[in-house]
Amino acid sequence: MNSKSYECCIIGAGPSGLGVAVELSRHGVNDVLIIDKSNIVGGLSRTEIYDGARFDVGPHRFFTKNQEVNTLWHDTLGADFRPVERITRIHYKDKFFNYPIKALDVLSKIGFMESALALASFAAARFRSSGQSETFEDWITQKFGRKLYETFFKTYTEKVWGIPCNQISAQWAAQRIKGLDVLEVVKNALFSGSRNAPKTLVEQFDYPLLGAGQMYEAMCDGVVERGVEVLLGTRVVSFNRSQDVIDSIDVITEESWGTTAEKKSWGTTAEKSQRHRISARHFFSSAALTHFFRLLDPKDDALDDAAVDALYYRDHITVNVLVDNAAIFPDQWVYIHSPDVQVARIANYNNFSPEMVRDKKMTALSVEYFVFQHEDLWRQSDDSIKELAADELQYLGLIKKERVVNSWVVRETEAYPTYYINFEGAYDVVKARTDRYVNFSPVGRGGLYKYNNQDHSILSGILAARNYLSLPGTPYRIWDINIDAQYHEDAKRKDKA
Ligand SMILES: Cc1cc2nc3c(=O)[nH]c(=O)nc-3n(C[C@H](O)[C@H](O)[C@H](O)COP(=O)(O)OP(=O)(O)OC[C@H]3O[C@@H](n4cnc5c(N)ncnc54)[C@H](O)[C@@H]3O)c2cc1C
Repeated sequence: MNSKSYECCIIGAGPSGLGVAVELSRHGVNDVLIIDKSNIVGGLSRTEIYDGARFDVGPHRFFTKNQEVNTLWHDTLGADFRPVERITRIHYKDKFFNYPIKALDVLSKIGFMESALALASFAAARFRSSGQSETFEDWITQKFGRKLYETFFKTYTEKVWGIPCNQISAQWAAQRIKGLDVLEVVKNALFSGSRNAPKTLVEQFDYPLLGAGQMYEAMCDGVVERGVEVLLGTRVVSFNRSQDVIDSIDVITEESWGTTAEKKSWGTTAEKSQRHRISARHFFSSAALTHFFRLLDPKDDALDDAAVDALYYRDHITVNVLVDNAAIFPDQWVYIHSPDVQVARIANYNNFSPEMVRDKKMTALSVEYFVFQHEDLWRQSDDSIKELAADELQYLGLIKKERVVNSWVVRETEAYPTYYINFEGAYDVVKARTDRYVNFSPVGRGGLYKYNNQDHSILSGILAARNYLSLPGTPYRIWDINIDAQYHEDAKRKDKA
């Protein structure tokens, strides 16, 4: 077996892995290898190109309240990182509703009776509210009332998570739509553009000229120039340990073997499907946290399998569709609330950046399905999933099916860590055990089992690198990152406070 040694090894060339690499490299640590099973950098935030059109893995807006991440994004792409005026709507009962919800828009579209019911249920919820909410359903109904919850939150949320809203933890609502309540929505409708608007309501976001992935390709190029090596098409299959130390990992090359540094590493001599061993002083991983424990060799008997098995992720299918029609809808994305169709969201990349589509007569859409691998939809062939997407686009009145020029299915496993009721028990057990591994730092979304956006993910990488470098202010408590503006303070170890 070939083996190589580095000071640091990073698993995953997504935002968090690249955040680690950027920060290490800034501090002169370039004896670093980044490994990714995909052939494209960017992870879930990558951009794939088909027939001259660029598609993200579902819509990816860039927004952060963290100045450091914002500066990194702008420094990385300069003029190619441009503001986009947000247009997003909810499609429900054949109508489009503005999102964020605008009071007059809703009232004019749902009619007098429905409006009266919505206002009455909102008033009743406010009157009855205990302030305590364990489930997503409680959290939303207390803030909006049952009628608005059923109209604007229930079906979409259940499509995303695959479980009823009364089994989804309120933590997800608190994290995703933190600070959002009806008064805030009304205030925002009246004074739009308020600087302190909650994240969900922000009406402008930045976006790269050539898709979300352009950001990560540029970040990757930057660290490669400074000597970091990147090995794509290579999957980690084993974390080899002695007690609480990870000595090495084993990797297998998959589709193709290559490094972004022109195969200057050991790629030219490596054979496809060969197993290689990589040792390092420290490992950072953005692979699913549960996979880390499943790939440990020898297995960690101190951790009950049940705790790992209790954590599971929602998987995701995107059907990228190229349509011969330049004007389908003006939104960057539309939430599909109708229970008649399985699609949950449709993005239109022409409206993110016109440069995403080479042929200006065409539109690049992504049609998203949230699914578990054991469900029927995941098991269907690509052709039947493409057919479903085209049928549903037509059913919703968005396109004529015969205008579909081509389509492609992209499957993503472990896309959304699932925050079901009481998942925290198992999560705390797994986190505590992970912390025992002295030279292993989980980062990012799947790595930390956190509903982290790009900014949280990058920041987790940057702070994990600082912990390794023992920079001033460290150690940061990486598990706690995700709370808008206060990342730095919140991420500091409680025991330091
Ligand atoms: C549908 C969707 C829409 C989103 N929209 C937004 C948005 O609008 N705004 C926003 O800020 N964020 C959004 N996000 C979140 C964003 O995609 C993530 O926060 C971010 O990509 C996470 O970065 P990461 O590096 O932690 O993980 P990932 O992006 O998941 O990268 C992990 C990498 O690790 C690699 N990997 C995993 N296992 C192995 C292994 N065994 N061996 C080798 N490599 C491995 C993977 O191939 C992947 O490239 C969205 C996510 C999804 C799924």
